[in-house]
Amino acid sequence: MSSMQKITILGSTGSIGVNTLDVIARHPDRYQVFALTGASQLDKLARQCMQFRPRFAVVLDAVSARTLSGLLKELGSDTEVLYGVAALSEVSTAAEVDAVMAAIVGAAGMQPTLDAARAGKRVLLANKETLVLAGSLFMDAVRESGAVLLPIDSEHNAIFQVLPRSYRENPCVIPLQDAGVKRILLTASGGPFRTMAQEKLHHVSPEQACKHPNWSMGRKISVDSASLMNKGLEVIEARWLFDAPEKNDIAVVVHPQSVVHSMVEYMDGSVLAQLGNPDMRTPIAYGMAYPERIDAGVKSLDFFSVGRLDFESPDLQRFPCLQLAFDALAMAGAAPAILNAANEIAVEGFLNGMLRFTDIPRLIDAVLGECTHRASAESLEALLGADQMARAAARQWLQSHALC
Ligand code: NAD
Ligand code: MG
Repeated sequence: MSSMQKITILGSTGSIGVNTLDVIARHPDRYQVFALTGASQLDKLARQCMQFRPRFAVVLDAVSARTLSGLLKELGSDTEVLYGVAALSEVSTAAEVDAVMAAIVGAAGMQPTLDAARAGKRVLLANKETLVLAGSLFMDAVRESGAVLLPIDSEHNAIFQVLPRSYRENPCVIPLQDAGVKRILLTASGGPFRTMAQEKLHHVSPEQACKHPNWSMGRKISVDSASLMNKGLEVIEARWLFDAPEKNDIAVVVHPQSVVHSMVEYMDGSVLAQLGNPDMRTPIAYGMAYPERIDAGVKSLDFFSVGRLDFESPDLQRFPCLQLAFDALAMAGAAPAILNAANEIAVEGFLNGMLRFTDIPRLIDAVLGECTHRASAESLEALLGADQMARAAARQWLQSHALC
């Protein structure tokens, strides 16, 4: 049996955070929680502190910290409350910490995730926006520090699982081609609007967009799944994780059942796939225990009730966000960071009822056009500047096109 692993969960109150705690609760002999963090839902964070007894809980500001401290005092918890962005980095880099689950949503998760990588931790990467915003810098940090990077996004976790063992042990050191890989096949569910006619897409509500057919997730990623931007972000994520820079290295395959979580095609014609129920506890448990396997509480896949596996090509006309992500990847430089920032503002606008679903790609397209030639990717500061510039341009577009 391995020794006790101390883990920090960035974003413990979210969907990935809760699933991570579910896996931890099944293995009290292997995992101990060092810190939990959350931006809201302080009652939930307090309950998590009572159950898992972390040394620290981190919130965003002094007001939340006072509220959480009050709740914890009432409950008799001895967890210490910290606040602010620097505290997120502190609990991700502390000497006692073995692993960091990076499950904050959006670009806000980038800094503590990067700091965990720089500190050489086992980084369980759910926050795909980190790689979209600063993929090259992040991968350099991983290589330089010797951090162990394990993808938690189900598709990337699947790809990691079916890559050759030699590659898994030395990721990005040997080119994929030298490992016999022809291409990566990234599966996509197609989201809740896969079969919806173009005209109807104008009128879909946030509730419809957040009702994913197979996965239960946070609201931002649910909208991204509905627009196929999630797949676009995942193509960029895969480009960096697996050092797959060429246009034909990664193909997207729509697979509505979400049972095949992704595939790797080898040069000899073999295609290896990872299958399972759509339950994030599988990739989370894989990342936590790697190279061992542990119980994740996931039901066996019932092939007879699944019945069939379908595959389609993605419709880039109805779902232009995927095309925009391919374009941003081809433009390189700060374009993916701009795409990501514009998408975050567009999704927020859609969720607040200020934009139509079909305005999301319109806003992103406009911001990419306006900002890309003005931005640079030469340093982290430059990328953060591009992110801010894109957010400002996106807010302006939103103001002038808002429904209300
Ligand atoms: P969520 O919205 O359910 O949870 C987000 C967490 O981040 C919460 O704990 C929230 O309090 C915290 N947070 C939000 N804004 C913050 C800020 N500004 N600063 C600090 N903390 C903040 O999201 P989720 O669905 O759990 O997704 C988390 C990440 O994992 C995303 O990057 C998403 O793309 C990725 N991911 C999620 C799934 C899934 O099944 N949910 C699958 C693959 C990848
Ligand atoms: Mg995914």
